[in-house]
Amino acid sequence: MTLFTPSPVVLTPIAAWYGLMLIVLRLTQRRVAGTVQGINYFMAAEFFLVAVVLTVGLRRHLPDYYSIISTNICWLLPQAFIHNGMRAFAQRPGNYWLTIGVLLLATIGYSWFTFIDQNYVICVFTTAICNTIFFVATIADMRKLPTNGQAEKLMRLALIFLIIFNTIRVSTIIIGFVYTNTEIIDQMSQRAYMGTNAILNFSVSIAFTMMVNSKLEARLAYLGTRDRQTGAYGRVAFFELMATELKRVQRKAAPLTFVMVDLDKFKTINDTWGHPVGDKVIADFVANAMSTLRSYDLLGRYGGDEFVILLPNTTKDDAMVVAERIRVRCASSTTEGIPPYSISVGLCCTSDGNVSMEDFINAADASLYRAKEAGRNHVDGCDYGKDHRNDDGKAAANVMKEDLAIAH
Ligand code: GH3
Ligand code: MG
Repeated sequence: MTLFTPSPVVLTPIAAWYGLMLIVLRLTQRRVAGTVQGINYFMAAEFFLVAVVLTVGLRRHLPDYYSIISTNICWLLPQAFIHNGMRAFAQRPGNYWLTIGVLLLATIGYSWFTFIDQNYVICVFTTAICNTIFFVATIADMRKLPTNGQAEKLMRLALIFLIIFNTIRVSTIIIGFVYTNTEIIDQMSQRAYMGTNAILNFSVSIAFTMMVNSKLEARLAYLGTRDRQTGAYGRVAFFELMATELKRVQRKAAPLTFVMVDLDKFKTINDTWGHPVGDKVIADFVANAMSTLRSYDLLGRYGGDEFVILLPNTTKDDAMVVAERIRVRCASSTTEGIPPYSISVGLCCTSDGNVSMEDFINAADASLYRAKEAGRNHVDGCDYGKDHRNDDGKAAANVMKEDLAIAH
């Protein structure tokens, strides 16, 4: 039997590329500093890809049995690591039973068909089948990813081609075309197989690096627009989004309601129970608001104990129902470790896209003021241009000019 022994001229650049990807992944891992999981697994995959190339390259100098077993195992491990790396990336536990089961059965198979009933082709066949199992499992895992950008598409494409090439290999062995001529499998189909696998494994590594980068970018963008403590939008991002929504009102003449919320006597809660409990009350309000709002409503933190909500396509009456629901949820909250608390809500609805943002916010602020005046734990609402008033005492004084300038 002649084992597949490609020239070092072919093997060296392939090993160098895998080695380079290992370094790129290591540098990426340092850059993301623990915020993205799964990089370790992909690094391990690159390591074993280097190992498989070296094992093939050293074949002439090693006993056949050693070469057959180590090459096939080193060829399986990267795909097992990629499969588990993808799960870690998606923040899911490893698929250890499948991994250990496949590796164990394959090793038993390699040992049997090397030492007891020597058949190199069955070893090759086993590897192709086992790798296909890992590729299919990896693609199945990718359905759980929250995003489907260019990187995910490239990854899926590379995995689909890997499945196709491995299936062709398995099929040719089954139909006996190659089976009857081990010289062909050793030299010709092995070369084509190794070449395509190398290119596709490069694509998998590049796609994964792209996936890590876009996850990092998305995280930075998220952090840049959010209030760190509550996860609600920060005021600048909120008012930018609000400016866009107001333009939509201009185009579509659909109602838009702006809601202002202030926690009642929050200073007293802090003074009586301490700031950490105050923080828990704020978290409880945010949880109650989020569980009431629709996915396209926006919740922002205006500052301190004041929050703002934007309800697109919502009339004043509908918004009053939503606000009342949040108020009741807060007033009847049974969350452990927090005292009873309440909120006051003011809101203003407009279908007039020409309203200035400043006037619109002032109208909601005046409405909030009336809710406080009505004894707190209360919802007040108005329709812009019908029953709104902007001249209630302190109303509107705290609309910051720079927020509006950024938002426009
Ligand atoms: P009112 O019913 O009139 O709104 O009374 P209030 O006591 O709530 O008055 P005000 O809104 O002026 O007080 C807000 C307090 O909220 C002051 C500030 O110390 C506190 N606060 C702001 N942000 C936080 C926070 O993140 N955590 C905690 N624990 N307290 C905060
Ligand atoms: Mg307050």
